[in-house]
Amino acid sequence: MDQTARPTLVFATHNAHKVAEVQALLGDAYHVKSLTDIGCHEDIVEDAPTLEGNARIKARHVVEHYGLDCFADDTGLEVRALNGAPGVLSARYAGPGKDSEANMDRLLADLSGAHDRSAQFRTAICLIRSGEERLIEGVCAGAILEARSGVQGFGYDPIFRPDGHDRSFAEMTTDEKNAISHRGRAVRQMVALLHEAAE
Ligand code: IMP
Repeated sequence: MDQTARPTLVFATHNAHKVAEVQALLGDAYHVKSLTDIGCHEDIVEDAPTLEGNARIKARHVVEHYGLDCFADDTGLEVRALNGAPGVLSARYAGPGKDSEANMDRLLADLSGAHDRSAQFRTAICLIRSGEERLIEGVCAGAILEARSGVQGFGYDPIFRPDGHDRSFAEMTTDEKNAISHRGRAVRQMVALLHEAAE
């Protein structure tokens, strides 16, 4: 299909890798652009108390200031013994530096001696097309390990073992992780929805 004829859909992120992943899943139906692509360089303050709220803030910012259809995601690790923490604060759990090693150290310390180590990653996506807002959720249930295992991935991957597997996310290939991950599940649901709409 002619590039110019495809409707544009903005992914409210500066991460070109994430954009390429979604574009590959969507195929020709939409032209996915990043915040960088549309010249959005201002700081979007994500101060909502929930993942859904933060995804909504980012998506609405693009719609209101750029007049383009958009989706945004936000992810958190929710640990049952900590009443859902670190949740929406996952990136900054050990402080404003967004330091993954420090975040894992803090979580392992918080769970020291805990019997229940169950947790889930949850991704919320807010999709806004023609002013209509949809919330989509992807969940991956698992458990927090006693210590790091593996070196792939990012964030909390070395200490998260998804249910039904005997390896951490950090011991999986990208494809293995995407097939079962919170973000993979949420994005595939959104892609199915967009394909339905494009038919
Ligand atoms: P974001 O909303 O994708 O920026 O994710 C927020 C934070 O959650 C990240 O800074 C990571 O600490 C954590 N996180 C999100 N997704 C993953 C994942 O797939 N593996 C491990 N940690 C993740």
